[in-house]
Amino acid sequence: MLKVSGIHTYYGKIQVLKNIALEVEEGSIVTILGANGAGKTTTMKTISGLLKPQQGKVEFLGENVTGLRPDQLLRKGIALVPEGRQILAGMTVMENLEMGAYHRKDNEIEKDLDMVLKRFPILKEREKQLGGTLSGGQQQMLAIARAILSRPKLLLLDEPSMGLAPLIVADIFKIIKEINQSGTTVLLVEQNARQALKISDYGYVLETGKMVADGKAQDLLNDPRIMEAYLGRK
Ligand code: ATP
Repeated sequence: MLKVSGIHTYYGKIQVLKNIALEVEEGSIVTILGANGAGKTTTMKTISGLLKPQQGKVEFLGENVTGLRPDQLLRKGIALVPEGRQILAGMTVMENLEMGAYHRKDNEIEKDLDMVLKRFPILKEREKQLGGTLSGGQQQMLAIARAILSRPKLLLLDEPSMGLAPLIVADIFKIIKEINQSGTTVLLVEQNARQALKISDYGYVLETGKMVADGKAQDLLNDPRIMEAYLGRK
């Protein structure tokens, strides 16, 4: 479904991504692991159109989409939940959710809103509350729910568990698995390596801008070198 090859991305003169390649099969969950500063967020920004690579190709459903803007990619079915969530603090939960569907012209938005509010009962309870007054976990759920309302084929999640309490983290991973089971392909960036791999089919390991390992999620979980380097934290 997604094929990234030979990607080189720079911030000014500083090269951050060096010859990145990865693939995401339709229906799967794929995780990118890596330490702080390895280039995980830069990879997500390059795939979602927030950054343009100097070299390389991003293909989505067989089409070359390299260099397209985020709104163009959203229309093609790629939605990003960015690091730090970036929900609209001064708008209500409902208004935030409606923003997720702003580009849609079909008549199933109401139906999808109902579906999302059923999946995230906490958002239903807080429909009229301002986004900025939600807790961290609730904001993450809102950001994911808003992305789902764009009806993505591929959902990109950048560190969805960041800064959340362990119980909430478990909830978030459960929700990601459910979203995948209902037909959405997921590419995930995580520092919470063990939990991310447990729900994933495949994983990549990024180190200072280069992919240094990849494999089936189960194999990475069982690989002592990977365990030591990236899976130390529970
Ligand atoms: P983290 O888990 O800390 O978010 P990451 O793996 O997502 O890390 P990136 O945010 O992609 O890492 O950053 C990769 C490298 O690029 C880092 O060395 C970072 O300092 C650098 N970098 C990120 N954003 C910029 C920027 N706007 N300008 C210059 N350098 C940047």
